Amino acid sequence: MDLLAAPQNIPLHCDICDKKPDFSDVSHLLTHVASKGHLSSYYKMKVRSGSDNVARKAVEDYDEWYANWNVDELMRERMHQKEKKKVSGGGAASRRSSAGQSDESQY
Ligand SMILES: [Zn+2]
Repeated sequence: MDLLAAPQNIPLHCDICDKKPDFSDVSHLLTHVASKGHLSSYYKMKVRSGSDNVARKAVEDYDEWYANWNVDELMRERMHQKEKKKVSGGGAASRRSSAGQSDESQY
Protein backbone atom coordinates (compact mmCIF):
# COMPACT_ATOMS: atom_id res chain seq x y z
CA MET A 1 0.00 0.00 0.00
CA ASP A 2 1.17 3.42 -0.88
CA LEU A 3 -0.18 5.92 1.57
CA LEU A 4 0.82 9.23 0.08
CA ALA A 5 3.31 10.62 2.53
CA ALA A 6 2.85 8.08 5.27
CA PRO A 7 5.63 8.97 7.63
CA GLN A 8 7.75 6.03 8.67
CA ASN A 9 8.45 7.33 12.11
CA ILE A 10 4.96 8.26 13.26
CA PRO A 11 4.37 6.79 16.71
CA LEU A 12 2.03 3.86 16.11
CA HIS A 13 0.50 4.02 19.51
CA CYS A 14 -2.75 5.14 21.12
CA ASP A 15 -2.60 6.62 24.59
CA ILE A 16 -6.25 7.57 24.68
CA CYS A 17 -7.73 4.11 24.95
CA ASP A 18 -7.57 2.05 28.14
CA LYS A 19 -5.71 -0.72 26.39
CA LYS A 20 -3.12 1.68 25.00
CA PRO A 21 -2.79 -0.36 21.85
CA ASP A 22 0.25 -0.46 19.56
CA PHE A 23 -0.02 -0.88 15.81
CA SER A 24 2.18 -2.51 13.26
CA ASP A 25 1.55 0.04 10.51
CA VAL A 26 -0.11 3.35 9.69
CA SER A 27 -3.08 1.68 8.08
CA HIS A 28 -3.99 -0.15 11.27
CA LEU A 29 -3.49 3.01 13.24
CA LEU A 30 -5.89 4.97 11.01
CA THR A 31 -8.47 2.22 11.25
CA HIS A 32 -8.24 2.47 15.01
CA VAL A 33 -8.39 6.26 15.13
CA ALA A 34 -11.61 6.18 13.09
CA SER A 35 -13.18 3.41 15.16
CA LYS A 36 -16.12 3.92 17.47
CA GLY A 37 -14.24 2.51 20.41
CA HIS A 38 -11.44 4.98 20.03
CA LEU A 39 -13.72 7.95 19.43
CA SER A 40 -15.76 7.24 22.52
CA SER A 41 -12.59 6.82 24.57
CA TYR A 42 -11.38 10.14 23.25
CA TYR A 43 -14.66 11.79 24.13
CA LYS A 44 -14.68 10.35 27.64
CA MET A 45 -11.08 11.40 28.12
CA LYS A 46 -11.96 14.90 27.05
CA VAL A 47 -14.86 15.08 29.48
CA ARG A 48 -12.64 13.82 32.28
CA SER A 49 -9.92 16.28 31.44
CA GLY A 50 -11.97 19.03 33.05
CA SER A 51 -11.14 17.67 36.46
CA ASP A 52 -8.33 15.19 35.78
CA ASN A 53 -4.82 16.38 34.93
CA VAL A 54 -3.72 13.01 33.63
CA ALA A 55 -6.63 12.89 31.24
CA ARG A 56 -5.98 16.43 30.13
CA LYS A 57 -2.36 15.62 29.41
CA ALA A 58 -3.38 12.58 27.41
CA VAL A 59 -5.82 14.61 25.33
CA GLU A 60 -3.22 17.33 24.77
CA ASP A 61 -0.60 14.83 23.71
CA TYR A 62 -3.05 13.16 21.41
CA ASP A 63 -4.14 16.43 19.79
CA GLU A 64 -0.52 17.37 19.30
CA TRP A 65 0.30 14.00 17.80
CA TYR A 66 -2.74 14.29 15.53
CA ALA A 67 -1.71 17.72 14.29
CA ASN A 68 2.01 17.01 14.06
CA TRP A 69 1.58 13.97 11.90
CA ASN A 70 -1.19 15.34 9.71
CA VAL A 71 -3.46 12.49 10.64
CA ASP A 72 -6.35 14.30 8.96
CA GLU A 73 -4.42 14.26 5.72
CA LEU A 74 -3.52 10.60 6.03
CA MET A 75 -7.14 9.78 6.75
CA ARG A 76 -8.34 11.72 3.74
CA GLU A 77 -5.88 9.96 1.49
CA ARG A 78 -6.97 6.63 2.85
CA MET A 79 -10.64 7.38 2.21
CA HIS A 80 -9.80 8.38 -1.34
CA GLN A 81 -8.10 5.08 -1.93
CA LYS A 82 -11.06 3.18 -0.55
CA GLU A 83 -13.46 5.08 -2.77
CA LYS A 84 -11.31 4.49 -5.81
CA LYS A 85 -11.41 0.79 -5.12
CA LYS A 86 -15.18 0.84 -4.83
CA VAL A 87 -15.62 2.80 -8.04
CA SER A 88 -13.18 0.91 -10.25
CA GLY A 89 -14.74 -1.96 -12.14
CA GLY A 90 -18.04 -0.21 -12.73
CA GLY A 91 -18.68 0.75 -16.35
CA ALA A 92 -20.65 3.94 -15.73
CA ALA A 93 -19.08 7.36 -15.77
CA SER A 94 -15.41 7.25 -16.54
CA ARG A 95 -14.05 10.62 -15.71
CA ARG A 96 -10.49 11.34 -16.57
CA SER A 97 -9.05 12.87 -13.48
CA SER A 98 -5.71 12.52 -11.87
CA ALA A 99 -5.62 11.52 -8.27
CA GLY A 100 -6.27 13.74 -5.35
CA GLN A 101 -7.08 17.10 -6.90
CA SER A 102 -10.43 18.47 -5.88
CA ASP A 103 -12.40 20.79 -8.11
CA GLU A 104 -9.73 23.34 -8.72
CA SER A 105 -10.44 23.37 -12.42
CA GLN A 106 -13.88 24.84 -11.90
CA TYR A 107 -14.24 28.56 -11.88
ZN1 LIG B 1 -7.42 4.63 20.71
